Amino acid sequence: MANDYYAVLGVPRDASADQIKKAYRKLARELHPDVNPDEEERFKAVTQAYEVLSDPKKRELHDLGGDPFSTGGGFGSGFGFSDIMDAFFGGNASRGPRPRQRRGQDALIRVDIDLEGATFGVEREIQVDTATNCPTCEGAGTAPGTATKVCDICRGRGEVQQVTRSFLGQVMTARPCAACQGFGTVIPHPCAECGGDGRVRTRRSLTIKIPAGVDTGTRIQLTGEGEAGPGGGPAGDLFVEIVERAHPSFQRRGDDLHATVVVPMTAAALGTQVELETLDGLRSVELRPGTQSGQSHTLPGLGVGHLRGSGRGDLLVHVEVATPTRLDAEQEELLRKLAALRGEEGPTSGTLTTNQQGLFSRLRDAFNPR
Ligand SMILES: [Zn+2]
Ligand SMILES: [Zn+2]
Repeated sequence: MANDYYAVLGVPRDASADQIKKAYRKLARELHPDVNPDEEERFKAVTQAYEVLSDPKKRELHDLGGDPFSTGGGFGSGFGFSDIMDAFFGGNASRGPRPRQRRGQDALIRVDIDLEGATFGVEREIQVDTATNCPTCEGAGTAPGTATKVCDICRGRGEVQQVTRSFLGQVMTARPCAACQGFGTVIPHPCAECGGDGRVRTRRSLTIKIPAGVDTGTRIQLTGEGEAGPGGGPAGDLFVEIVERAHPSFQRRGDDLHATVVVPMTAAALGTQVELETLDGLRSVELRPGTQSGQSHTLPGLGVGHLRGSGRGDLLVHVEVATPTRLDAEQEELLRKLAALRGEEGPTSGTLTTNQQGLFSRLRDAFNPR
């Protein structure tokens, strides 16, 4: 079964020529590749449908169940969509020559840093491979002592006129001149080093300052450090994208850092002091007698520096109480004695606690690692 071109245009089978034209104009405006690049396939389908339904002979063939495109000589003979659309929308009429000198493209480079770098900021030397202005011709593209000359084919206009026949009648369209690629000038003696492009590829070293507070995905924009423009045009920008490596003991969430310390059951019960190697050096954390698993201590200002504004996040130290897994005879006896003193021997019915805060916050942390 051939395409149902009526459905493609959304018109009834008995639509008048005027209805078909209106439906097509409306769809073509919506779907034109210049407006809506993602809809190119639909745009083609709609244009094809219009081609058929606007031609009485092709429409008749289609109505009889045939496909005018399978019989050859159909679509795309002589002119393409762009011709039609240019005629339709007054597209690329007379743009004049395009300048040789254009702005260069932006470049992107990824830089790995560790948590210390993100916390305090860091300076890094990076190697960038980009196009730079050709030193021989200084971007002009011409061999030393020579110059560009006006294109003979388009006489400097950068485009050539072309008459095409379309369903709208004869139309005049302008195409970029092939002889000069639309520049309006040609380079009779291209620079030997850059081949006329005005640029060469080079590797440069750049020292960049990465501020505190950056995170994976943060982009730092270095104006004018991207690709040099063709013809000696200004350079684009260089974007440095940060990739932060995971730290073995600290987990970052926003600008706060989280760490977990494991303390023996006895120390948790009796209270203790924990020495902790933070990013700022050794710090001690005081655990009060009776410290529970899941409790946390905040060390203010020991987190990651804020990217905007001053100050730093906090370091949160979470306590995990370790229950001994192996006991020798003497230890076991002592523990049994302790249990007896506390009336904690024998089978016990678990007590359901109403304070679920610790559990919930740990669950939440487990589901939102950052
Ligand atoms: Zn050159
Ligand atoms: Zn030309």
